[in-house]
Amino acid sequence: MPYITLRKGEESVPESMLGIRYNRTGVPIGLCYRWEMPRDRDDRGVLWARTSQSRSPDTKRPAGKPIFASMHPSRQREMMASLRCQVCGGQPSRTEEGYLFLEKAGNDGDPEGITTGQPPVCLDHALAGIEMCSHLIEHGYVLLRSKVPRLHGVLGQVYTPVDNVLEPLPPLVGPDGSDLPLPYTMRELTPWVLASQLLRRLTRVTVTDIDRELAMAGKPARPAADAKRSRNSVMR
Ligand SMILES: [Zn+2]
Repeated sequence: MPYITLRKGEESVPESMLGIRYNRTGVPIGLCYRWEMPRDRDDRGVLWARTSQSRSPDTKRPAGKPIFASMHPSRQREMMASLRCQVCGGQPSRTEEGYLFLEKAGNDGDPEGITTGQPPVCLDHALAGIEMCSHLIEHGYVLLRSKVPRLHGVLGQVYTPVDNVLEPLPPLVGPDGSDLPLPYTMRELTPWVLASQLLRRLTRVTVTDIDRELAMAGKPARPAADAKRSRNSVMR
């Protein structure tokens, strides 16, 4: 079960916990929490959504029914910031060609420079994702390596102050309906975003496939039927 997947019962704190920061002359300059803690902000000063954690008292691993369509903001941030496997939290697969990422297939054939909220994976969990993740099985996937996965920005909710009250702005969406990333370079907006996903831009990309990776790692090959089925869904 992916470490970053949201679990039933994990909930965001209410919007009423948010406040407005002002400069010395009383001009609103960004969002804050009413009682803020250092971990509420990332290295670039962006404020992050607070979501409760449901963990097993014994293993300390996330517990409860998974909500596969959603990621837990702080667990996603933790794995993406430190480039660890999104499933087990261990070291991701890394070779001369870079870190291993498993992405949903896109429309565009060239994944160089894509922006992603999916942290990297180890080889075992790339294989598990390809064989067991219904979302990837349905939409197809691309397995790739990136030598330089640069920190890029966040996904989140942007607010604006109206008469000293925070108003949420409509979601930033692209022409295809997908959430638009907010790059860290958009300094006029980043103080007003409540982030829920950390994004990296994958550069110096090499597209690969799982059978090649298994062979290069000296791991046993998959049964021929599995190999054939997933090769058909790989983005070209
Ligand atoms: Zn793993």
